[in-house]
Amino acid sequence: ARSIVALVGRPNVGKSTLFNRLAGEPLAIVDDIPGTTRDRLFATAEWSGVEFDIVDTGGIDPSAARAGREPLSIGSAEFIKEIRSQAELAIQDADAILFLVDAISGLTPADREVAQILRRKQQMVDGKPYPPVFLVVNKADSANLRAVASEFYELGMGEPYPISALHGTGTGDLLDDLIASL
Ligand code: GDP
Ligand code: MG
Repeated sequence: ARSIVALVGRPNVGKSTLFNRLAGEPLAIVDDIPGTTRDRLFATAEWSGVEFDIVDTGGIDPSAARAGREPLSIGSAEFIKEIRSQAELAIQDADAILFLVDAISGLTPADREVAQILRRKQQMVDGKPYPPVFLVVNKADSANLRAVASEFYELGMGEPYPISALHGTGTGDLLDDLIASL
């Protein structure tokens, strides 16, 4: 069976945009309203002759859920609980995780919490955390924004990969390392 690669991150970091780019045809709903992708969407992607399935999750905003606040402009605590459990489900099935953060907004408390959820879900297999997490700094559209990527080292998720899902830059290095891990 093909490996499963889950796209995880708080709302609005660009998961659906990256999903659509990797899937090669527009399938996920991309919206300016954060957190509008509620269902898990699957597509098959391919890089250097390796096929894998990608999953676009609803997104996680545990800060908002815990504080009992609504996440940004839409949704209830129930909505957040739902997208969070979907993301946790995706993590469980995943052979690798693309953990997306946002170079324009920089590191946010929600990113730290997502990192915590991921670490909790990882298991040690052959002395390494499994599934592997690739820290993807999206919206790195320019040299200045790419320089911001190092700010995310402190998440403790290894080397950040600056990409622009919008422009399609930086994804080569990421995908090379991703398929090497599958
Ligand atoms: P999701 O909630 O994580 O699925 O995020 P979306 O894919 O729906 O994207 C949220 C917003 O960020 C949309 O307005 C996208 O156009 C925008 N976006 C996504 N990727 C990039 C990028 O690489 N650069 C910039 N500047 N904007 C992006
Ligand atoms: Mg989305």
